[in-house]
Amino acid sequence: MKLLQGKNVIITGASRGIGKGIAEVFAKHGANIAFTYASSEGPALELEKELIALGVKAKAYKSNAADFKQSQELIDAVTKDFDSIDVLINNAGITKDNLLMRMSEDDFDQVIQVNLKSVFNMTKAVQRTMLKQRCGSIVNMSSIVGVKGNAGQTNYAASKAGIIGFSKSIALELGSRNIRCNAIAPGFIETEMTDALNEETVQGWRNAIPLKRGGTPEDVANACVFLASDLSSYITGQTLHVDGGMLT
Ligand code: NAP
Repeated sequence: MKLLQGKNVIITGASRGIGKGIAEVFAKHGANIAFTYASSEGPALELEKELIALGVKAKAYKSNAADFKQSQELIDAVTKDFDSIDVLINNAGITKDNLLMRMSEDDFDQVIQVNLKSVFNMTKAVQRTMLKQRCGSIVNMSSIVGVKGNAGQTNYAASKAGIIGFSKSIALELGSRNIRCNAIAPGFIETEMTDALNEETVQGWRNAIPLKRGGTPEDVANACVFLASDLSSYITGQTLHVDGGMLT
């Protein structure tokens, strides 16, 4: 069953990793996909082709989600190209890990700008379109690190905890207009990025997870399908953990 047939979706940071997985799974569910990347033009154009081959409309946009003006321009362009925007997935994110003792001001600011300010930029930009439509679903990518905290990730944990507070507030502000906003908190998701890690370390992490494996981008994407689709039409302001029971 195609749960997102004909819905227009915008996903930030879909050139690789979880965002790419979301774009692929959404397209298989019939969604038209507008997606962004920061610098990976080649992989983004490849993905655009792959999505179109699945029979949906798809377009890649180079846009820095941390930039307020670029986010407004992006939404203007997507609204023009796709007519409406039913779903926004704020997925773009970065890490710049270090113990607080060694963390520079720049590393703190950059992570907050890309991970948290981007959610403000994109939600503010899409708000008018969704208000006019009187419907919409916004899904923000947090992390279990934002719920629990993590040594060496003060900047990242603060940005991801901020996303949860932001999502709940939007749920309260826009609920009466039938605009829903939820967060997803993934645990350890295996992407190209984690392929570079030491196998022994990764196996240790897998063993500590109740379901005994790392998550896949598809695991996160399936949770996004649920929150983006009408199956979750009475769910807003929630944080869904996709972590194999890691935080239980
Ligand atoms: P990833 O593989 O590093 O991919 C990040 C994506 O974000 C890329 O498409 C990148 O584009 C894009 N991006 C980075 N900065 C951007 C900016 N300023 N503007 C627009 N796009 C930007 O990351 P991932 O592992 O898939 O993670 C995706 C999201 O899930 C992040 O928010 C992350 O914090 C969250 N998360 C991940 C895990 C995990 O275990 N992997 C766990 C919990 C939460 P380019 O390719 O052009 O650089």
